[in-house]
Amino acid sequence: MRRNDSVRAIKGVGEKAEQCFGKLNIETVGDLLEHYPRGYDEWKPIQQVSSVSEGETAALEGVLASRPTLKNFDRLKVLSADLQDASGAILVTWYNMPFLRSQLKMGTRYILRGKVGKKRGRLVIEQPKIYKKEEFYRQVGKLRPIYPLTAGLTNNMVIKAMEAAVRETEGLNEYLPSPLRKRQGLVEYKKALRQIHFPADKEELRQGRKRLVFDELFLYQLALSYIRKRGREPSSHKMEVREEIGQFVEGLPFALTNAQKRVFGEIEKDLTDGFVMNRLVQGDVGSGKTVVAVMALYLTALNGGQGAFMAPTEVLASQHYKNLCGMFADRGVRVGLLTGSLTAKQKREAKEKIALGEWDVVVGTHAILQDNVVFANLALVITDEQHRFGVKQREELFEKGREPHVLAMSATPIPRTLALVLYGDMDLSVMDEQPADRLPIKNCVVNTDYRPNAYGFMKKQIDAGHQVYIICPMVEESEESELESVSIYTEQLREIFPPGVKVDSLHGKMRPRDKEDVMERFSRGETDILVSTTVIEVGIDVPNATVMMIENAERFGLAQLHQLRGRVGRGDAQSYCILMRGQGDLFGVRQSGEELFALADVFEDAEILTQAAKEAEAFAEEDIRLLCAKNKRLKERVERYLGQVTL
Ligand code: ADP
Ligand code: MG
Repeated sequence: MRRNDSVRAIKGVGEKAEQCFGKLNIETVGDLLEHYPRGYDEWKPIQQVSSVSEGETAALEGVLASRPTLKNFDRLKVLSADLQDASGAILVTWYNMPFLRSQLKMGTRYILRGKVGKKRGRLVIEQPKIYKKEEFYRQVGKLRPIYPLTAGLTNNMVIKAMEAAVRETEGLNEYLPSPLRKRQGLVEYKKALRQIHFPADKEELRQGRKRLVFDELFLYQLALSYIRKRGREPSSHKMEVREEIGQFVEGLPFALTNAQKRVFGEIEKDLTDGFVMNRLVQGDVGSGKTVVAVMALYLTALNGGQGAFMAPTEVLASQHYKNLCGMFADRGVRVGLLTGSLTAKQKREAKEKIALGEWDVVVGTHAILQDNVVFANLALVITDEQHRFGVKQREELFEKGREPHVLAMSATPIPRTLALVLYGDMDLSVMDEQPADRLPIKNCVVNTDYRPNAYGFMKKQIDAGHQVYIICPMVEESEESELESVSIYTEQLREIFPPGVKVDSLHGKMRPRDKEDVMERFSRGETDILVSTTVIEVGIDVPNATVMMIENAERFGLAQLHQLRGRVGRGDAQSYCILMRGQGDLFGVRQSGEELFALADVFEDAEILTQAAKEAEAFAEEDIRLLCAKNKRLKERVERYLGQVTL
């Protein structure tokens, strides 16, 4: 089979699996090969009950010492039993698997493998799988890939399909020039693919990952060096400075920081000097980038142009929308919202208003990028949380207007040198100041024994009128859905905290409307604790929230932790970030499917990034074209980052 064949070409992948893969944007065998594991499970031999500790995944062998009991909570059916070996006994629980009750026999010997948690001070094995002896021992010592999944697709199904794809796909030719590959000490492409999916050991994993990370960063750099050559071009949207901006600033409930003033000055100069703006505003979370963007949108509207304000998630887009409606209320600026979750009728109406120029500012998600959205006079495009968008999307929006001005905003705390490499095609404004009334966030890294203290601390903060975020452990055992992991955690919290404490939950599988309702209740202060997966990560602004606890913090990339942490410390009260580090034996390789890169982490891979930039720099524009002409595969990959620009 070949890379461009449908996943159906893989033996064992039928129509149903094809649909499931489709939900993960996997259509071809090639797509599947680039569906990298989000972590690896290292199979350790059987342990003694007395030696396990909270947070790890452990395998135990023992006798069922009690008859399994079934209890019902709200949406949960909890089956519990005791497992006993020579060293002691441990509680075992299964969620929503009531049928197991009749299958498990008291007095019978079992091998169970699952995550060790804690319940009312007692260790418990949660949702373990039951293994036959041979089946278990075959796995010991291996690194088992754990893939991002979707409903209907199990980790084992992905592994099976992946094994076939890695083994049988033809035409996975090397596309990097051989001297470059040798110079950088990179393994061949095909080998790297095998190593990242099925590493024999950690060293193989390191090698495979290094090669694939290099590819991403190198190709990105090649794409960038194309765009960079453009320089600033004359603009058909030359604006005039307007004094209403000053009045707007005076009407704000706070005084602008010096950094905000300076950065807006730079933007204003770009918008009025007759050349196309292409600027990145980089400012830490909470530095107040939104209001600067609003000022730019206002200036654009005053000059008769339209502005598009694009956010990476629906929740964030609707938050911005409300925020903007408030700020523009008595200024005659007409603001509209366009997201994927509008009804067909609402979308049609929105598009009409955009086409007729009846909206001055359009806030939205990538729905704004759709082909049939036509602007009357698009003069300014703003992308919030730029690190979530690729060069390609930026380009697509750019193509929507007659060369609109582009303003990108990012909170990724990267040093200036790194920013130049990553966003080298843009001018850079740095917002290096926090509003004066902010106290720095207090951080603490704790282990799981500290959990009761952490909950006690939260209770105190809640009693003082504040609110709490908890980022829930990521789904570990594949078959368990994101929904279940969040609801199990939420139920547990409801048991731990007194009934007066309101706990709510948010996860990626919810409908956008429901997500918004949850967020709204939280921002109105009706919820005390919000349990969430990382959907909360981007840009949410609830100044009354003062505590953020992150479970399994060891699994997040630095950039992501920073983003998460930025959800607190936005008001004038002291805020806290508690990083709970389980010792888990699952180690992550990838942060999130939505980032610019599938594998690369700009911090952890800073060294590879520097090397990739250096190698890419050596390629003149002409060379890139030559290289790509000879090498279709490389061309394809560079173009993926380029979007509209073709080689
Ligand atoms: P970010 O840079 O992370 O996007 P926001 O624009 O969301 O930050 O601003 C965070 C919070 O700080 C908001 O509630 C905003 O109203 C407030 N804020 C912005 N500028 C100032 C300022 N100069 N003084 C006080 N508060 C400010
Ligand atoms: Mg923001």
